[in-house]
Amino acid sequence: MGLAASHFLSDRSIDHVVFERGEVANSWRRERWDSLRLLTPNWQSRLPGLRYEGPDPDGYMTVGEVTEFIERFAAVSRAPVRTGVNVTSVRRTGDGYHVTTSHGEIHSRAVVIASGACNQPTVPPFKDAVPGSVRQLTPFGYRDPAQLPDGGVLVVGASATGVQLAAELKRSGRPVTLSVGEHVRLPRTYRGRDVLWWMDASGVWDQRYDEVEDLTRARRLPSPQLIGTPERTTLDLNALASMGVELVGRWSAVRDGRALLSGGLRNVLSLADLKMERLLDTFDEWAKTDKYADKYAGRYAGRYAGRYADGYEAEAGPPERFAPTRVPESTRLHLDLRSGEIAAIVWATGFRPDYGWLDVPVVDAKGQLQHEGGVAGSPGLYALGLPVLRRRRSTFMCGTEDDARAVIDHLARYLAVRR
Ligand SMILES: Cc1cc2nc3c(=O)[nH]c(=O)nc-3n(C[C@H](O)[C@H](O)[C@H](O)COP(=O)(O)OP(=O)(O)OC[C@H]3O[C@@H](n4cnc5c(N)ncnc54)[C@H](O)[C@@H]3O)c2cc1C
Repeated sequence: MGLAASHFLSDRSIDHVVFERGEVANSWRRERWDSLRLLTPNWQSRLPGLRYEGPDPDGYMTVGEVTEFIERFAAVSRAPVRTGVNVTSVRRTGDGYHVTTSHGEIHSRAVVIASGACNQPTVPPFKDAVPGSVRQLTPFGYRDPAQLPDGGVLVVGASATGVQLAAELKRSGRPVTLSVGEHVRLPRTYRGRDVLWWMDASGVWDQRYDEVEDLTRARRLPSPQLIGTPERTTLDLNALASMGVELVGRWSAVRDGRALLSGGLRNVLSLADLKMERLLDTFDEWAKTDKYADKYAGRYAGRYAGRYADGYEAEAGPPERFAPTRVPESTRLHLDLRSGEIAAIVWATGFRPDYGWLDVPVVDAKGQLQHEGGVAGSPGLYALGLPVLRRRRSTFMCGTEDDARAVIDHLARYLAVRR
């Protein structure tokens, strides 16, 4: 995101520098597991002025390919990146910000925070009550199944990370239990297209932050249960159960060495089914309209323009509905963590940003940056790369360009007025 901001700052000849504590694409080099592929298809991998142009637009990039893609963007955009420079403090001064880094200090009239939304894994505090005999890992420490001790694995969290790791660990021959809380169920393909194509084309992903009914909730929504595989496999809880993964309820506490699990699994499963149905209804409704041609005439001129002037209904396969998530006949309400049944726990319970270096009072008690569409509550301070920053797509690479353009527009106006 810092590179995208740089692209638009350069467009406007605004003098700037991008500080990166590691290397370009640091999070993709250091904080992802080996088998990870993007869950967004290649054609959605786009950054300002750079599109995927390879032979497999419907495929999903590996971590290595994402890293290369971002490196190429840095090279093409000639961003003034200083790698290996850690920002340790940003403080407001009379006419701007005093920035302290591991390599010295600078003064800046404006600051764009593009330090990422996923700097640290979120792990519930009761992790400290887990017996020491059980190995605990987060997605930042996990690389592949060989790292884990032999024996059963408890994966906690059933969003994108949790379902992907549960499947990989099960395939490695281990008994896997998956603790399931609130989640977003999605099929990989719908009516012959990637489900994220539908999110994009139907306008669901374009919904603006100031149009979303419950913005706080939208910003906290877990990632969808999707995996990017060459086979375009759906990886929902039915698929995992068919592989032999045991589903249990949300983990709420540890007492006397036992994990206490919620009895509300049935409700959680039916809620996710219901929400998926409603989303598919939205897609079906949209397919009957003629908005498709208008939208795509602009964005993907040449590729799809004008093809569906009468709506997409005639082109798509028939509407599909998917089997409800199978509720296990009996679910365990606790797991004895001292019995040896569980040798390792993988916490796939989400990620959070780290603003420990930001000495400006714009972070709330929950550690979230307060902002209005990327404009923080301190003059000349901006943010990029946060969930539903300006649109629902903001969390993904395909949301970068529009968000960065709008935020840098605002920043340029701010500087112009001050001048
Ligand atoms: C497991 C996982 C899977 C994902 N899958 C997808 C996907 O399939 N498709 C998709 O579009 N998106 C995906 N995303 C989201 C994707 O990571 C973001 O869209 C993208 O990385 C956002 O880029 P960013 O620059 O905002 O944050 P980051 O990639 O986190 O970059 C922030 C950078 O800031 C640096 N930094 C942080 N603090 C400091 C500091 N104090 N000083 C100096 N440098 C600092 C970090 O080293 C890092 O390089 C995924 C995210 C995760 C965690």
